[in-house]
Amino acid sequence: MDPLAERRLRSVLEHLLGPESNRSVRSSPTSEAYEDVVQVPGDFAKKSLLSSRSQYEQLYEEAVTNPDGFWGRVAAGYFWQKLWDTSKPVCNYNFDADKGRVFVEWFKGGFTNVCYNALDRHVLAGYGHELCFLWEGNDPGQSAQLTYSDVLKKVCQVANFLRSKNVKKGDRVCIYMSMILELPIAMLACARLGVIHSVVFAGFSSESLAGRILDCQAKVLLTCAAGRRGNKLLPLKDIVDHALEICLRDGNLRVETCLVYENSFALPRQKVSWVEGRDIWWQETVSRFSVDCPVEWMEAEDPLFMLYTSGSTGKPKGLIHSVGGYMVYAGFTFKHVFDHQRGDIFWCTADCGWITGHTYVTYGPLLNRATCVIFEGVPTFPDAGRWWEIVDKYQVSILYAAPTAIRTLAAQGDEIVRKYSRKSLRLLGSVGEPISPKTWRWYYEVCGESRCPVIDTWWQTETGACMISPLPGAWPMKPGCATLPFFGVQTVVLDQEGKELHGPCEGYLCIKGAWPGIARTVYGDHSRYENTYFKIWKGLYSTGDGCRRDADGFIWITGRVDDVLNVSGHRISTGEVEGALVSHPHCTEAAVVGYDHDVKGQGIYAFVTLSHEATPSDALKKQLRDIVRKQIGAFAAPEVIHWAVSLPRTRSGKIMRRILRKIAARQYTDIGDTSSLADPSVVEDLIKGM
Ligand code: ATP
Ligand code: MG
Repeated sequence: MDPLAERRLRSVLEHLLGPESNRSVRSSPTSEAYEDVVQVPGDFAKKSLLSSRSQYEQLYEEAVTNPDGFWGRVAAGYFWQKLWDTSKPVCNYNFDADKGRVFVEWFKGGFTNVCYNALDRHVLAGYGHELCFLWEGNDPGQSAQLTYSDVLKKVCQVANFLRSKNVKKGDRVCIYMSMILELPIAMLACARLGVIHSVVFAGFSSESLAGRILDCQAKVLLTCAAGRRGNKLLPLKDIVDHALEICLRDGNLRVETCLVYENSFALPRQKVSWVEGRDIWWQETVSRFSVDCPVEWMEAEDPLFMLYTSGSTGKPKGLIHSVGGYMVYAGFTFKHVFDHQRGDIFWCTADCGWITGHTYVTYGPLLNRATCVIFEGVPTFPDAGRWWEIVDKYQVSILYAAPTAIRTLAAQGDEIVRKYSRKSLRLLGSVGEPISPKTWRWYYEVCGESRCPVIDTWWQTETGACMISPLPGAWPMKPGCATLPFFGVQTVVLDQEGKELHGPCEGYLCIKGAWPGIARTVYGDHSRYENTYFKIWKGLYSTGDGCRRDADGFIWITGRVDDVLNVSGHRISTGEVEGALVSHPHCTEAAVVGYDHDVKGQGIYAFVTLSHEATPSDALKKQLRDIVRKQIGAFAAPEVIHWAVSLPRTRSGKIMRRILRKIAARQYTDIGDTSSLADPSVVEDLIKGM
């Protein structure tokens, strides 16, 4: 790399990550984990859509070398009111900021509508009677179901309501609701009109909600009176009222309409605060509108929705996804990553407040006419058997969940899982953070009885849909490994200097070339989009994650690239130390951070949670240190082991390391913003437990 380019790179990295951060990565993978191969269970392989790695490689090659043919064929499976300009390449992009504005275009000139493809297309083809959503409430015994025709009618009514409020193509509507059926219905109603929805997870505070409403200048807010999660009542309308006051006070924004779904299970109507003229009851108003609503035909590159990242590493970014590319990519990944076939009952446990809920609760499944379970509650209410009860009740065949929830259940033991049949399951998936080999094994062996492949799917809010994942049936699995890139996704591993590595290696994970589902910009801040993703490594999309590639070409995500410590000159990835700690039978979770150390530069500080049968002791601390010594080396053994009841997590379940760093540094009075934590009291408990 020339010196000028290097200086520029350093300044970008420092701008993004701060000068003190150490982004070096270790270069020689040595872990035995690479050798742990799990073959696809025979019964699964017999019926899977794809049956060999060579079949995949052929299609992968075609997607890369002939995107017009490959993606053109995939896109032709949808209804286009006007086909894209087929005389031009299906995709046009620039990832090199030095050559001008970074942009991505797919299916340019085509006109379509995602809602039409997700609903009308199936109803018009005679499938309106098929089940679309199976809803399970927070409390056992509460449920509802809707066919594709039912959903279409409800979507049209909400769309007609929005039209009556003069909401038009390109306007923004904010959705702040718990996981009731009206949440995906509201998203689809927006998509029908070409209105950009911004779903905010119903768990964020008034301040966070207000910030997001102001950022996109939402015209209308859709919400519900209250929500329930386990024993907790979420006073959503109160939070909304406060947020809208903040919007007026701080941003001079008056949201004119607030549509409120009456959720009497959660809160009786008379207890809901009300602003006359602004607030409208959902049920009594929306039901008066027609169940027919014409579709707004959208250009492929028009925005479909915006969504903020989790904020694990900094201020959340409001990413914009496009109509055509997102539709094609969400639909196609759903079919192949989940091996979706007719008769499957699909359940993604994510909330619609996250990208996973957009792509694999709402758009991906409906574009494939799938039947999906939507669950309002939490995995441990009323007890840790709830998921398995739901699996049996609805005969779920594909379950897609996050490692944080799987770990929580694993800590409760196997017995409660075994109380339920789970015979309907045929595939298990994981998303959102690294799944340790131990948790993977538990999911595979206990939950799926070694009968269901586990797919560890790596992707990001920015990527729109899955990027690296096993295509179940096509190749063997390795516990804790995302394996191979999806069709057309060109993964590249770089070393510290930005040189592309080949063969087995470890480094920064980047993507070469555009895939249809990539986010097109950060709402209102295109330069942030360019700086964050395209200026770190010239001409490439930078994921911010590190990875290893093993001898089979399989990719192992090692964690965020800024989660690397430098202890006495050794570069140690926090993920690696955590992996060693959780391989101890009594350790359920571990989070490792660095702290200033006079001699070593940085010392290793480990927060550890134990399984219910273990008692904290010095002997146990020694065992944990020994396990790290054995698996990584003495230099990586944590100086401090801090017993934690639980770890501070964002509302999407990711560990907030910046808070742990503060605690490790004993900076209790300067913890920083904790409003996006799922449970802020965890922080006090950690400090008390010192
Ligand atoms: P922010 O970008 O605001 O810091 P975030 O990165 O947590 O937030 P998301 O887009 O929800 O927001 O999460 C994507 C990240 O989650 C990935 O970059 C990766 O670090 C992690 N991740 C997702 N799936 C996996 C997986 N299967 N294995 C390992 N890590 C994963
Ligand atoms: Mg991110």
